Amino acid sequence: MDKIIDILKNDKVCISCELFPPKQGTELQNSLEIVNKIAKVKPSYMSVTYGAGGSTVGYSAALAKEVQDNGIPALAHLTCIQASEEKISNVLGQLSDNGIKNILALRGDIPAGMEDADMGSFKHASDLMRYIKFKGDFCVGGAAYPEGHPESGSLVKDIENTKYKVDAGVDFLVTQMFFDNTILYNYMFRLLSAGINVPVVPGIMPVTNAKQIIRICQLSGTKLPPQFRAMVEKFADKPAALQQAGIAYATGQIIDLISNGFSHVHIYTMNRPEIIGGIMENLSEIVKD
Ligand code: FAD
Repeated sequence: MDKIIDILKNDKVCISCELFPPKQGTELQNSLEIVNKIAKVKPSYMSVTYGAGGSTVGYSAALAKEVQDNGIPALAHLTCIQASEEKISNVLGQLSDNGIKNILALRGDIPAGMEDADMGSFKHASDLMRYIKFKGDFCVGGAAYPEGHPESGSLVKDIENTKYKVDAGVDFLVTQMFFDNTILYNYMFRLLSAGINVPVVPGIMPVTNAKQIIRICQLSGTKLPPQFRAMVEKFADKPAALQQAGIAYATGQIIDLISNGFSHVHIYTMNRPEIIGGIMENLSEIVKD
């Protein structure tokens, strides 16, 4: 199965998407069916998130395997917060046994009230990246924050900290969602000025739920531009209309990104095959071979 860095080296337009596993103890079958449905629209790869503190580890690995069994390269997320080196080593072994070659290495969010001493064996995502590279022939991605990570303190510091990921051998970066493309273009300028030139995959979130998007943006510090806020407010109580508008807005962002030289875009699908399906339909001529 392909390494994602090889897909990203290609100039062909490539649309990937994200899935999240069900909570531990609930049924996996529904998620496997979602994978099968999304696979039909042929994303270039699918990423599978990792529950906070490793709470979904078994399911994440099983879903990543299902993605690859559908002929689509999988990108398995892996967080290190509160994890021992032994635990990470075991998960890497499990992923490797499932034929997974691509890992998005993350720290994870710090649970409220957690002491420094409880961080685990790896303090930063860059420490985890270095370890994964040491452990095997994995292609490793990392997270990037066009509006700055909430803990980084400043945009300058954020770029300095992103550089640690590059120094640790990260192959590519995937961004946090953003709703105004100029934020990404300014960010690219700051990355390139700092000598960071690994591929950057913009992350796009098609809005489908007004309350959910406002809560996510408050947590991540993502700004809502006026035209986006107006759309969310206008259709807040009409879910089908908001979904249609959200797919159209995301499609507009993607076309603007492609027009300005980005060939690869990652879609936060929130496990909804109809969302990525709608976007792929809108882009049918653009993604053609
Ligand atoms: P880090 O790179 O460790 O950064 C964390 C903070 O520390 C930042 O403020 C950074 O600027 C700072 N920092 C980094 N290195 C240093 C250093 N050497 N010295 C000082 N400060 C430093 N979370 C999940 O739980 N599961 C997922 O599957 C998941 N997937 C995600 C996918 C994407 C594309 C993105 C953007 C985020 C995802 N997250 C996920 C959320 C992520 O775990 C959080 O944003 C987390 O708070 C930071 O993770 P990181 O990997 O960027 O950490």
